Formats: sequence, structure tokens, C-alpha cells
Amino acid sequence: MSTTHSARLMDGTALARRITERTTARAAAVTRRRGAAPCLATVLVGDDPASVTYVRMKRARCESVGITSRHVPLPAATTTAELVATITALSEDPGVDGILLQHPAGPHIDERAAFEAIDPAKDVDGVTMRSFAAMSFGLPGFVSCTPGGIMRLLEEYEVDLAGRHAVVVGRSAILGRPAGMLLLGRDATVTYCHSRTADVGTLVREADVVVAAVGRPRFVRGEDVKPGAVVIDAGYNAGNVGDVDFETARTRASLITPVPGGVGPMTIAVLLEQTVEAAERSLPA
Ligand code: NAP
Repeated sequence: MSTTHSARLMDGTALARRITERTTARAAAVTRRRGAAPCLATVLVGDDPASVTYVRMKRARCESVGITSRHVPLPAATTTAELVATITALSEDPGVDGILLQHPAGPHIDERAAFEAIDPAKDVDGVTMRSFAAMSFGLPGFVSCTPGGIMRLLEEYEVDLAGRHAVVVGRSAILGRPAGMLLLGRDATVTYCHSRTADVGTLVREADVVVAAVGRPRFVRGEDVKPGAVVIDAGYNAGNVGDVDFETARTRASLITPVPGGVGPMTIAVLLEQTVEAAERSLPA
């Protein structure tokens, strides 16, 4: 009787819960020591329903761990200059520990200019150029939350990255690009694929570690996964479908993240953790 191999699942829900429990205790300690809870400012331009939902969800999670959230809703017609001024004021406000600008902020906004108005010490979402540089050089700083969550999963499951070939499919500023940099920092040999890459499948077939961050359902074909490879699916598409063909990939991979319950819960866990860390840094030594 033959049995089909099935990869071990990387349980992001459980790991995120453990991280969040520690974050809750740390937030309480900050509140005790300085008499004010850690505070995350959330900035939302316009009323895109998905963005409204994301921000509401993030604020609810903040409350549940003892982080205060200060919401700053701005009209859709807000200019880049107005947004930059708002974020600069939050950067200078000693009552704010972390700043999250929900993106996309709108087609008329110079999003890079807005991100750069975030004080790197409050960049708990890891979106500024300085945070990216620190991440890339392996220096202290806040990481991009989803790539940071991916690295925590790889650590938790003791995936040895040194000398392994990691293929990252996607190069967005918040996901693929920083994920590749963090993998490089752990001595993986990193290949990036993007929309101009000639043959993604050939590269995936050579990968010891695959990170899928494409935004296309089941884009990474299961039959391209090298037997024994570690598969991280950061994708989240309609109908709870990832960027990897999970059912086939799991018959070949050694470890794989499910969707949902893999990378998704890690992103918010890292955001909360980094917000408390920013608050801890404000405490007198
Ligand atoms: P994005 O900004 O749209 O970037 C997609 C990337 O995929 C781009 O670099 C693009 O290449 C590349 N790509 C598109 N078509 C391709 C193709 N045919 N072949 C190879 N590469 C291709 O998306 P994102 O924000 O990084 O998000 C990616 C996925 O992760 C989405 O499913 C999103 O929902 C999910 N996500 C999850 C979380 C979480 O918390 N779990 C957080 C953020 C995003 P170019 O650069 O050449 O255009």
C-alpha cells in the first residue's frame, strides 16, 4: 500500500499566538512603568472598504493586547503635503510610539514621501527607506512585518538557511524585496523572480526554499516544488487561496505554510510586537 507524502504544516496561528502572549505581558510592563500604554497611530486616507476593514482589525488586535490605538482618518482628497504634515506631527508626538500608514493611500498620493515622514524609531510597520537599509545591512531596526513574520516561522521550524537556495517570487517593497534581504542576511543564496522573469518554473524547481509573494492564486505550481523544499506562501487571494498550488506542493515539500493560518497571522503579531518594542525603547534605562 503506498501512502502519499504530506509536508509538515508551519502553524502560523499557533506561533503568532505565542508571540502575542509575550507581547501582551510586555505591553502591561510598559504601562506599569510609565503610566501610559504603548500607542499605535493608524493613518487612513479615504474610505476604501478593504482598508477600513484592515485598520479596524489591526486596532482591535491592538486593544486586545493592551496597546492603545489612535486613529487618524483623513478625507480621500488629502494631498501629499497634508498627509506628510499629519505624519510628521505624529512622528514628533511623544505620546505616539508607532505609526502605521495604511496603504495604498490613493493614486494621487506620493506614498514614498508619506512613508519617509515616519520617524524610523516609530516605523513599526517597517516601511521607510532607513528601515529597509537597516534590514538589508543586518543592523537594528524594525522589519517589514510580513517578511519578519516569515523569518520567525523559518526560525521556529529550525530551517537551516545558510547556503540554501531561496527563490522569492515577487519583489514588492513591503514583501518580496525585504523577504529576500532577510534571507540573504541569514546566508541563503537568493534569487528574485518578478513579472519580467523569463521562466519562473525553472528557478522554482532549483529552490530549497520558495517564498511566494505574487498575488496570483496558485501561481507556484506544485509539480515545480523540489522534493524536500520548504514552501512559504505569503499570498492571500479571494476564497482563502494562496499563491502556491497547496494540494500538489504539499506532496513534495518538507514544510509548507497553509493559507490561511500560515504567514497571515504572523504579520499582525510582528506589528504588535514591534509597537511594544518601540514603546520599551522610550523607557528610561
Ligand atoms: P504586489 O505589490 O502586487 O507585488 C506582486 C509581485 O509579484 C511583483 O513584484 C510582481 O512583479 C510579481 N509578479 C506579478 N506577476 C508575476 C508573474 N507572472 N511572474 C512573476 N512575478 C510576478 O503584491 P504584494 O503586496 O507583494 O502581495 C503579494 C501577495 O501577498 C498577495 O497575495 C497579497 O495578498 C499577499 N500579502 C499578504 C500579507 C499577509 O499579511 N499575509 C501581506 C501583504 C501581502 P513586478 O515587480 O515586476 O510587477
